[in-house]
Amino acid sequence: MNKSRPGFRRTLRAASVFGLCFATLASPLATPMAIAQDLSAIKVPPRFSRPASNTDEGGLWGLMDREEVRLKRSPLTIQDQALKEYLTELVCRLSDGHCPDIRVHAVRTPHFNAMMAPNGMMLVWSGLLLRVENEAQLVAILGHELGHYLERHQVEQLRAAKNQAVLSTMVGMVGGVGGFLGQMGLMANMFAFSREHEARADRMGMRLMRHAGYDGREAAVVWDNLLAELQVTGGKEAGKRGDLFETHPATAGRRDELLQLAGDVGGELGADRFRKVIAPLRLGWLQDEVKRGQYEESLVLFERMLKKDPQDVEVLYARGEVYRRRDEAGDVGKALADLDRASRLAKAPADTFRALGLVHKQRNDRAGAVQAFETYLAQAPQAPDAGMVRSYLEELK
Ligand SMILES: [Zn+2]
Repeated sequence: MNKSRPGFRRTLRAASVFGLCFATLASPLATPMAIAQDLSAIKVPPRFSRPASNTDEGGLWGLMDREEVRLKRSPLTIQDQALKEYLTELVCRLSDGHCPDIRVHAVRTPHFNAMMAPNGMMLVWSGLLLRVENEAQLVAILGHELGHYLERHQVEQLRAAKNQAVLSTMVGMVGGVGGFLGQMGLMANMFAFSREHEARADRMGMRLMRHAGYDGREAAVVWDNLLAELQVTGGKEAGKRGDLFETHPATAGRRDELLQLAGDVGGELGADRFRKVIAPLRLGWLQDEVKRGQYEESLVLFERMLKKDPQDVEVLYARGEVYRRRDEAGDVGKALADLDRASRLAKAPADTFRALGLVHKQRNDRAGAVQAFETYLAQAPQAPDAGMVRSYLEELK
């Protein structure tokens, strides 16, 4: 990516992201009845057979296959068996017979995104899994990605690539430096979809989601939540991070179209099932979110989460960490309030006490710091930073 010419990079960036991209639907939708008919008229094609390797599509599949091998070996690929099985189960429930051809990989990256390659490889970022609130919201995204796959948008994009030199440069770069994960942003742009493709993927996604019995309205909630995060920074950082915010301005319209498509029949949410699967992984994802350093956006996210559950001890800890790290006027007090409250709740993460110790230390509360650090060491004696915390304790005593 760094070796590419700035102009080239900008051209790629100007497009939208892989999979879920921001674009308005091509044409306004009419009455709810017309929409319902539209959705039922959308047909899911039969399974695809592997294209011959000497065709353009076959070449693309081969490239994706190689990247998938690399991806599976990457430390960023989340190996949690329960999560893998869950994501596969959801895709199978949605995909109307295509299940044997699709493989879902969860990747530990603190951004909101998902993507689908034409060879059946689907990627879901941990930043997305952290943000969706229930199974229906997750399924809304998986369904959209499946929409691109089922309608073979990636192959259409490949053939529509006017500038074959640019295309071969992209393919060459993806195959070369650093592999798939090193080139995630570039890969994302490789399948930057047109507005029409986005609209069609939204409709197919809604068709799959509703057919599987989910509440389609949750697709709009995903966009509402993302917009709320974006609005706090005014989108200044959008386009610099390879995530869903890249082409943000049209989102509001797309959200409304999704809501129209969803109708008001309701359906399943699957909130408990979703929460249970991600529970063992969520603290790590919250810590990734804090380390991302986009504190204003993180605060919007954490406040939304705490509104749902004010006793959510992991989020209280994470919000305390954001305040502690941001360290603007008044932040020490806010960090102390959150961390202290978290430390009194059952199942407070051990890291809560380390963070609390650091805040006390900053405030010159020696006794408080000693007590918090000692609790941390008692709970996490093998922590990588245990030695450092012991040296703090020696200083303080
Ligand atoms: Zn898309």
